[in-house]
Amino acid sequence: MQHSSPRVPMESFEERLNSFSGIQHPIHRERLARAGFYSTGTGDRVLCFRCGGGVKDWQPEEDPWEEHAKHYPGCSFLLAEKGQEYINSIQLQDPPR
Ligand SMILES: [Zn+2]
Repeated sequence: MQHSSPRVPMESFEERLNSFSGIQHPIHRERLARAGFYSTGTGDRVLCFRCGGGVKDWQPEEDPWEEHAKHYPGCSFLLAEKGQEYINSIQLQDPPR
């Protein structure tokens, strides 16, 4: 049974995509929005609508899903979309220093 809770802001892909309008970002906005991120309106800083995890100082070659898994492996959106195996593989690839 679904737990009823107030609507989460930025839960929809379109809403997240729209948050990037007028923002210069090194990463394609569609890729960011798909990975659960929306723009905070400050520089290249983005937040995940689900875990609230923030990522900034993006490099053009970075992958939004990888960054999500690297920094916020406990995110339930990430887990639902990519699965535990993906998260584990990213964590193994780049151990925290
Ligand atoms: Zn997240």
